[in-house]
Amino acid sequence: MSTDEREFMEAWTRVLSGFTPVYLAFCLLVLISVPSYGWWVALFVGLDLAKGIVAHTLGARGLRTELVYNCNQYLGVALIGLIAFASGGASSPFLPFLAIFAGLFPVLYDKARAIQSFMYLLGVLVLASLGPDQVADHEGLFRLGTIICVVLALRVFGTDLLNSGLEYRNESLEDELTGLSNRRAFDAELEHVWGRLSTQPGSAALIAGDVDHFKRVNDTHGHPVGDLVLQEIARGLNRAFRSQDTAFRIGGEEFAFIVDGVSAERAETMARSLCESIRLLNPAGLSITMSFGVAMRNDDSLDAWLRDADAALYRAKESGRDRVELA
Ligand code: GH3
Ligand code: MG
Ligand code: MG
Repeated sequence: MSTDEREFMEAWTRVLSGFTPVYLAFCLLVLISVPSYGWWVALFVGLDLAKGIVAHTLGARGLRTELVYNCNQYLGVALIGLIAFASGGASSPFLPFLAIFAGLFPVLYDKARAIQSFMYLLGVLVLASLGPDQVADHEGLFRLGTIICVVLALRVFGTDLLNSGLEYRNESLEDELTGLSNRRAFDAELEHVWGRLSTQPGSAALIAGDVDHFKRVNDTHGHPVGDLVLQEIARGLNRAFRSQDTAFRIGGEEFAFIVDGVSAERAETMARSLCESIRLLNPAGLSITMSFGVAMRNDDSLDAWLRDADAALYRAKESGRDRVELA
């Protein structure tokens, strides 16, 4: 799954549990209205439910997930628009339900797609309001106007809420000094990888790194220079690492890497190249080295995995620093 798809699925799973009861309540309302509007409204509900089930079956198989769910949303809006059109247009009791999608779309889509889907929603709203069996002209216009106001408000609030949530999430997972992912992000990712490898075959390595004699840097050159060294080390580590892997700052001068799908030999080679790149880095013009401990995921426990990496790192320190030890 691509990053975009993963983000989309994350957003979708987040809202699905809340949205499903609302959607089912809407279906129930439509079904209750069968005596007033005729059997055909039930047909639309049936069609909408059926396409939802097809989308989820295809989506669960991981088949073009985002495309499938997008089609599901867009078709859903069109079907509800049709129900509203056929049950009185602007005076249809179902027309306001379309406004809900103005809140849903900003959650699911990135900016460009959200604007697209929003224009689509407005188009469907206006077309649906043109349905037959209208009430007096001006009244229909007022109703449509009110719904469009609700749609606009939901879109503004939805987007704003989402942006503030994203900012908060990014901040709370990012280390302020270096911009690397922080301890919290590390714990979450480690747990994720651990959990996945409990049910799927595969391997992963944890590389723990600690700057050697860092206290001396602070003591000799001052804390601000120490901070600068940490920032340059973070950049150096990131550069030396595969782009698909994440570097974390998990403590003061402690860093970690979770490397997915590698053998012990490969992980050790990667750690050696990190060690070498720091040796050559000269952050803030100083000779700095780091020690690393490498531990492969085993079947014991997540804590044991961390402890193995720590123990290996400790051995690297004990045996002279500026080196890599394998658990
Ligand atoms: P060792 O080789 O055994 O790891 O020795 P060390 O001196 O690196 O280890 P120690 O744990 O004794 O010292 C770590 C130092 O890192 C102590 C602390 O003041 C410093 N430190 C932790 N966080 C920061 C930070 O954000 N900025 C600066 N400048 N220093 C920090
Ligand atoms: Mg330390
Ligand atoms: Mg240290």
